[in-house]
Amino acid sequence: MEPLTPTEQERYRRQMMLPGFTVESQQQLKATTALVTGVGGLGGTAALYLAAAGVGKLILVRGGNLQRDDMNRQILMTDDWVGQPRVFKAQETLQAFNPDIEIEAVCEYVSAENIDTLVQRADIALDCAFDFAERDLLNAACVRHGKPMIEAAMNGMEAYLTTIVPGQTPCLTCLFPEKPEWDRWGFGVIGAVPGTLACLAALEAIKLLTHLGEPLMGQLLTMDLARAEFAKRRPYHDPNCPVCGDRTRQTLSTQLSTIATPTRPIASR
Ligand SMILES: [Zn+2]
Repeated sequence: MEPLTPTEQERYRRQMMLPGFTVESQQQLKATTALVTGVGGLGGTAALYLAAAGVGKLILVRGGNLQRDDMNRQILMTDDWVGQPRVFKAQETLQAFNPDIEIEAVCEYVSAENIDTLVQRADIALDCAFDFAERDLLNAACVRHGKPMIEAAMNGMEAYLTTIVPGQTPCLTCLFPEKPEWDRWGFGVIGAVPGTLACLAALEAIKLLTHLGEPLMGQLLTMDLARAEFAKRRPYHDPNCPVCGDRTRQTLSTQLSTIATPTRPIASR
């Protein structure tokens, strides 16, 4: 892996002091490309903490323009940007925050046409999309290409988080065979709720990439933030899942089995 520059050694010094987090962990982050779908209260905040940690390349994907009622939670934005494409402001803010990493902005919604190309270019995906149509497309593409995906979703004061590794854990369709009826545009939100979930999602990605701690593999963390209640559940892994069923039935491929092995990095570039 590429060595760290003197600036990077200084920038990331405090996290490299953490037990279990080494120079190699940092180099692993540097060598990683992470795909983040959404740059709002959830995706934007998750991207900020991936940038802070030194993930070498971020691909941000989100269509649409900033609206003033996004401003209670979309912390990468500025008020004077209202009416302009969110994803370019997210890129600018993150690049100013950490000039040592590469940030690509894709001003598109996730679609059947673009998802395979995006996922193939990434080592890991963070699902921070605003609806289940985009979430399902990303999940299926991650399963097809054997890429891990951090699934972070919320509704009102409730939040859900898990780490999906195709062939090893349930996928999003196993978790939610029937989609919850969440209002695409309408639910109420206090910025600290997606912010909390986003920090946990970024941490899951960092843990999975660097083998720090124990990622939520096959476990669903549910959070009722109105009551500050957290619980872990072990969701059903459907062997006949229409999305991941074939992959689950296969013996784990060599590529995928490396992910849970502490000594082998999962990213490559
Ligand atoms: Zn599945």
